[in-house]
Amino acid sequence: MTTENKSSSDYRSDYRTRFAPSPTGPLHFGSLVAALGSHLRAHAQGGLWLIRIEDIDPPRQVKGAIEHQLKTLASFGLRSPLPVIYQSDRIRDHCKAIATLVEQGLAYPCGCSSKEIPKESPYPGTCRHGLPPGRVGRSIRLKTHDEVVLFDDALQGAQRQIPSQQTGDFIIRRGDGLIAYQLAVVVDDHAQSITEVVRGADLMDSVGRQCLIYDALKLPRPQYLHLPVVVDANGRKLSKSDGADPIEALNPNQAFRLALRALGHEPPSHAMSIEAQWQWALKNWALERIPRGPVSI
Ligand code: GLU
Repeated sequence: MTTENKSSSDYRSDYRTRFAPSPTGPLHFGSLVAALGSHLRAHAQGGLWLIRIEDIDPPRQVKGAIEHQLKTLASFGLRSPLPVIYQSDRIRDHCKAIATLVEQGLAYPCGCSSKEIPKESPYPGTCRHGLPPGRVGRSIRLKTHDEVVLFDDALQGAQRQIPSQQTGDFIIRRGDGLIAYQLAVVVDDHAQSITEVVRGADLMDSVGRQCLIYDALKLPRPQYLHLPVVVDANGRKLSKSDGADPIEALNPNQAFRLALRALGHEPPSHAMSIEAQWQWALKNWALERIPRGPVSI
């Protein structure tokens, strides 16, 4: 359909983005919007759209979800032209990055349990200058200073975040030994040469933390584009782990049309099939049409 039969040398630019689902359940409509939006953006930029499975949180993983997600994406013509990357295969690199940050004094072991840390306020820095007596290191945190992270989101415009005020020193390896999303996403986006991160706006507030990790590892920051989040009738974000209706509950042609509509694009009614809607969308894709705020279906 759109990416099949192309080799990576057939792309006219170095642009690369990815869709990176966590296998916490079947894809829901919001995931389809993010996958389709990032794919159309990559096409408009003459670049590559890749898939990465973020399977580094086994307790949250649902059996069969990976195969199911990939099958659902493929049924909408969303296939990666390069092999799908599994984050669980990349843990050695994640650990290497964490070790480097600790060696350089940019990150430190923390012995606090989540219960001890006041919710909704930045980490108070209890273990920042060494573990208090009697404490054992559980997690690893990256030090924040008063860095102001500025970035220009391709859709949401100029943004300003101050991670030290949002979260304070934040976790890059969890107390249960698992790698934190913030760390893994940076290491893997860099390894996959992602030039622009395109995803739902619910993740926009993690850009500041991710930029601090890029800086600490001396890696170039990517560009960002945050797509509108899809919300339910009560204004709540659809979520795989909360069991939002899987996409298969909808007629596929209709689901595709609704996903394009959520992205501000309305193919003519005679473009019924997914294939016909793809053709229209590839030709008519325009960033200006995409709404910035949450969209409901
Ligand atoms: N794995 C995340 C999710 O399923 C997305 C991470 C990202 O795109 O940075 O919500």
